[in-house]
Amino acid sequence: MTGKETSASKPVPRPSSESRVFWDGAKEQKLMLPRCKACGQCWFPPSQRCRHCLSDDFAWVQSKGEGRIYSFVVYHRVYHPAFEQDVPYVVAIVELDEGPRLLSNIVGTPPDQVRCDARVRVVFEDSESRVVIPKFAIAR
Ligand SMILES: [Zn+2]
Repeated sequence: MTGKETSASKPVPRPSSESRVFWDGAKEQKLMLPRCKACGQCWFPPSQRCRHCLSDDFAWVQSKGEGRIYSFVVYHRVYHPAFEQDVPYVVAIVELDEGPRLLSNIVGTPPDQVRCDARVRVVFEDSESRVVIPKFAIAR
């Protein structure tokens, strides 16, 4: 993302009661995941029950923020005027080492050099917005 200003502002996620810990963590540059106390697995997006065993006994843990690109697309078309200065940009499904997959952006690498299975690490870009969106950069 270039950070250039446009007349329209980007839509931002609205934290829900289930996702508030995730978004509060992002503001502190932490990638938070719900982790099941019964089976030990993490899941995403946040919900009140484990996706693996349906237990409602879980705690939030900080992810290492490392994983790989499971799949990605390059957006060339401007679907929202606020993204006009950003195209082309990469939208990817990142598979974290803890297991969950997140939809995010790959930043810091030209889109034509992004590849599936590339190792990535979470980055938290400064934002004027009240919501910080975790993004990923290819690990060097
Ligand atoms: Zn579980």
